[in-house]
Amino acid sequence: MNEDKLKEILTCKSIDPAVRLDFPMLAVKSHGQPFAYLNNAATSLKPKPVLEAMARYYQEYGSSVFRGVDSIAYKATQAFEATRYKVKDFIGAKQAESIVFTSGATAGLNLVCHSFAAARLQPGDELVVGATEHHANYVPWQQLCKQKGARLVLAPNNERGEVTPELLESVMTDKTRLVAVCHMSNVMGAVNDLKALAAIAHRHGAYLVADGAQGIVHERPEVADWDVDFYAFSAHKIYGPTGVGVLYGKYDLLESMPPMIYGGEMIDVVDVADTTFRDPPYRFEGGTPPIAEVIGLGAALDYINSLGYCCMQQKTLQLCKRAVRGLQQNPNVEIYNPDNYFSGIVSFNVKGVHPHDAASIYDREGIQVRAGHHCAQPAMRWLRQNATLRASFAFYNNEEEADRLVTATKKAGDFLDVFF
Ligand code: PMP
Repeated sequence: MNEDKLKEILTCKSIDPAVRLDFPMLAVKSHGQPFAYLNNAATSLKPKPVLEAMARYYQEYGSSVFRGVDSIAYKATQAFEATRYKVKDFIGAKQAESIVFTSGATAGLNLVCHSFAAARLQPGDELVVGATEHHANYVPWQQLCKQKGARLVLAPNNERGEVTPELLESVMTDKTRLVAVCHMSNVMGAVNDLKALAAIAHRHGAYLVADGAQGIVHERPEVADWDVDFYAFSAHKIYGPTGVGVLYGKYDLLESMPPMIYGGEMIDVVDVADTTFRDPPYRFEGGTPPIAEVIGLGAALDYINSLGYCCMQQKTLQLCKRAVRGLQQNPNVEIYNPDNYFSGIVSFNVKGVHPHDAASIYDREGIQVRAGHHCAQPAMRWLRQNATLRASFAFYNNEEEADRLVTATKKAGDFLDVFF
């Protein structure tokens, strides 16, 4: 994050604490205590405007899209397509036709892998993947390399968990065809400079695929300016519903790709022996799409815009910093990413306490964190840990919740004293 951007975040207006009232889940009790949801990197809570937009669709114009000629079906199609334009504006794409609705980041990355990369990878080629990627941005490429006789090359991370331009450059060769890296790590919270990485990939004649599942939450992407070839994300991490996501692709690249799912609404003419297909993005959206979810994603983007992206970043950063400072007072705590406040993520362990045991202690205190390998076993190997705890903050969390995490962590350490 450059200095100017950081200054902008730190000086923008503060989030109104009343924003918490928008999130019904924050009123839930867990073990008789107010629920402290610190697992936002797994999935975010949903604000009322998103829930209401989806309910309105089902209650007032719940028709299928594209297929009807009546006014209600037309309204549904309009609302569905409006989200495509909202996404385009939100991520800085040049055209709405570059926005493919998928079931999530995983589906988007697999689509690029099987439809785009599979046709271009030859035996002996190299494919570069970040060394600490989520499985969704690792396993598809690993398996493709196995199928094609290509070589999977790992781009190393620096101590903060970033794939820096220098580190990427160090593994690029004239055989590299594609680079797949995350925008932000779900374990380390490290942010990659996608613009710089895309420039390196392109200089070597390779494509850059970005996993934006975490990044889009904390740094608004500028896909056209950054010149990434593909960018995938899920709605559920940015306050939208589950079951829907987006694959952004440069239009000429999408045009070169065959469909993966055959069926209704993705075809042009179906003849006895052959079929022609619609242009992107529809070619990749066979079958009845997740209509309510796409509409919910549109409402989530409206909600973010109404609050101000920058204000959300500021609050998340402040809370993460507060939690890190508090945890650092505890000699039993080992924090793996103490400087990446900006991501809202704190990855840590309590010495001698298995993360699952610690997570049970948090649960009894009404706090939900994530414990385990976070679907990123490569990152665990890099950290030389089997598992970690991960607390992840969102703008609707508050200082009290950050402090409760610190206090409960002390209890987890005391648990150790009881047994030894
Ligand atoms: N990449 C990263 C960095 C993630 O954190 C996640 C979700 N944990 C994914 C990809 C996959 O997202 P989804 O399960 O929504 O497809």
